Amino acid sequence: VFYGQSPPVYPSPNGTGIGDWADAYAKARVLVSKMTLEEKVNITISIPMGEDHVTGCEGRVEAIPRVGFPGLCLADAGHGLRNAELVSAWPIGMSVGASWNRELALQRATGMGAEFKKKGVNVIFGPIIGPQGRIVKGGRNWEGFSSDPWQNGQLGYETVKGLQGAGVIASVKHFVANEQETRRSTSTFFYEDETTTQAISTNIDDKTMHELYVWPFVDALHAGATNIMCSYQRLNNSYSCQNSKVLNGLLKTELNFQGFVITDWGAQHAGVATAMAGMDSAALPEGGNFETMLWGLNLTLAVRNGSVPETRLDDMVTRTLAAWYKLGQDQDFPEPGIGFQADTTLPHKSIDARDPAYDDVLLQGAIEGHVLVKNVNNALPLKKPKMLGVYGYSARNRDSYEPNNVLGPLQTDDNNLDHVIIDRNGTVYSGGGSGTTSPWLAVSPWDALLQRARKDRTALYWDFESANPHINANVDACLVIVNAYATEGTDRDALRDDYTDSLILNTASKCTNTIVVFHNLGVRLIDTFVDHPNVTAIIFAHGPGQESGNALVSLLYGDVNFSGKIPYTVAKNESDYGSLLDPIRGVEPYGQYPQDNFTEGLFIDYKAFDKAGITPRYEFGFGLSYTTFSFSNLKITKNESASFDQYPSGEVLQGGPADLWDVLVTVTATVTNTGRVSGAEVAQLYLGIPGDQDIVPVRQLRGFEKPSLHANQTATVSSPLTRRDLSEWDVIAQKWSLVTGDVKVEVGSSSRVLPLVGTLTL
Ligand code: BGC
Repeated sequence: VFYGQSPPVYPSPNGTGIGDWADAYAKARVLVSKMTLEEKVNITISIPMGEDHVTGCEGRVEAIPRVGFPGLCLADAGHGLRNAELVSAWPIGMSVGASWNRELALQRATGMGAEFKKKGVNVIFGPIIGPQGRIVKGGRNWEGFSSDPWQNGQLGYETVKGLQGAGVIASVKHFVANEQETRRSTSTFFYEDETTTQAISTNIDDKTMHELYVWPFVDALHAGATNIMCSYQRLNNSYSCQNSKVLNGLLKTELNFQGFVITDWGAQHAGVATAMAGMDSAALPEGGNFETMLWGLNLTLAVRNGSVPETRLDDMVTRTLAAWYKLGQDQDFPEPGIGFQADTTLPHKSIDARDPAYDDVLLQGAIEGHVLVKNVNNALPLKKPKMLGVYGYSARNRDSYEPNNVLGPLQTDDNNLDHVIIDRNGTVYSGGGSGTTSPWLAVSPWDALLQRARKDRTALYWDFESANPHINANVDACLVIVNAYATEGTDRDALRDDYTDSLILNTASKCTNTIVVFHNLGVRLIDTFVDHPNVTAIIFAHGPGQESGNALVSLLYGDVNFSGKIPYTVAKNESDYGSLLDPIRGVEPYGQYPQDNFTEGLFIDYKAFDKAGITPRYEFGFGLSYTTFSFSNLKITKNESASFDQYPSGEVLQGGPADLWDVLVTVTATVTNTGRVSGAEVAQLYLGIPGDQDIVPVRQLRGFEKPSLHANQTATVSSPLTRRDLSEWDVIAQKWSLVTGDVKVEVGSSSRVLPLVGTLTL
């Protein structure tokens, strides 16, 4: 196999009903055996919502009443249901990443999943664990959790558990390596080139594929994920949704995936080839119909004329129905799409999906997703200011919203959007595209500040428009609330903008206590003002969801403490990101077949900075608190009863050999709150695996814990290291191979503040 080529892997393995899938498979097989060829083909197609459809479901598998199958409703997306009334906007994926809190991730997913279920949504198009932030300007990085695959995997695991625990099928997306929006699909689909250009080909070697891009999907599969969405782009020059190596090989053989693979919207580019390569379910762009679609009548024909064996079709349908049975959707599920109206101006049934039991989770998720990166001169917390100035376009809600849509920017709404750098329409709760939501209410920073000011008798001065606001010389502090916007469908134009920087600098020139808050949907560079003596505090608020203002105000006033840490690296200069700053834009030199070689291997984000010896502005895992913490007492204990054989030998369940999850080593450390107020610290564990430092990163995240501690309180944190955590992908053996030699173990508060250092000899 040559670099950038995808070897053929056929035939497509049938799902076998291994492990806890057995019952679901038994039931699915019975149902499939009762279906006609045409009925089976119907199960493999999602009809898009359209003018002639009453539900707002993004896709719909039609019911087959004859056999008692009610159909499926499929809908977006990762931080709440979009285009529906009476639902919540949860913190975005990047906020979940910034909170480094597994329990909170689980609760968020449980609450979110329950809303989807009440609305009759069988399949939620989330979580998003790819893109993983390889391209810093990537338009969708905010939908995922982190630029580290291990962290992504941990939070993806909890999210799948939560969503599926609530009874909805989690569609884990996008499989795999859809790392940029530019040229993510054919030019005829998204761009206006005169000639048809194929989607970008992400060319990835086997080791990088396993250790970085597939890594978090393995956690999702281990959590029991029942659906995987194949991605838009080409992977080693073969479209992801017809790539037999990726679907038949990696996913269905190596990882023994038992559920079904669905295409991203319009990501299907072949009929028979997709069926044979292991795709199970076709999702269509608007306008697709049974006559012209690649499957539909054509799949029926292909089975009739022998091009696709009927056993392959049976497997597609069995996998889909097994997912449905596995989550008990045959027993206890509302009518598909019942609470989900395409046009809310028409009379419709009102189904309230909200649950006040999750109000705390919405708020806590928003709080923990905020990261404090600068705080000098005791700027924060605020102490009942007498006079407060509030500036910036991201402080208050926009004037009006698209009917039936989002309290976040719409992908289609370019009005006053400095595309795609900032959104000047008003505050943002999330980014744009299919990952937006339509919450029942959303509290802006200004809304919450008003309430607080009234209570404290703080006089407020505001200007949300001007880049150079008039500032009363007596204000105690100036809040500048701005954003860095991103949306699906296009990558970001820049990581900073002159308008916002000048607003900050103008304010700082007149206000000695200027506190900057970014609603940032990705990395935001701050070096133009970070060292200005009057810029006393800086907060990365990310996309907090509907509790945005309440979370911010409780943090600003010290009712609660900051505990978030950035799940990405903030550089001093754009150029520090090197070739990973920008997406590949043009098509030359490959004409209609654009190529993107992932030759940096594992070295994205902090691993790239560590390798190049570049000091970032703020390193991966960094964040301040109102208190301080110390670390001591590192202990590394081997589990003597575990097997330390080179390769795993356990039964291959969904996700891989079961013994990959055996705990071989436990690392413990003591964390003490050495300050004066309560707080939570994200203790991080990094491993330095021995090897050629051109291939193996200096350090890789392999653990995090987040103890909450009162002043002077101490806790012992404990991180299990599994066989998987201590293995590298062996490209010759095609297995995970346990590392040998001296592994450096580092524990601390960020990827560059690691006071505890030890050695694990394997
Ligand atoms: C996005 C998916 C989304 C789908 C359906 C696509 O454009 O890439 O993430 O689930 O649309 O809206």
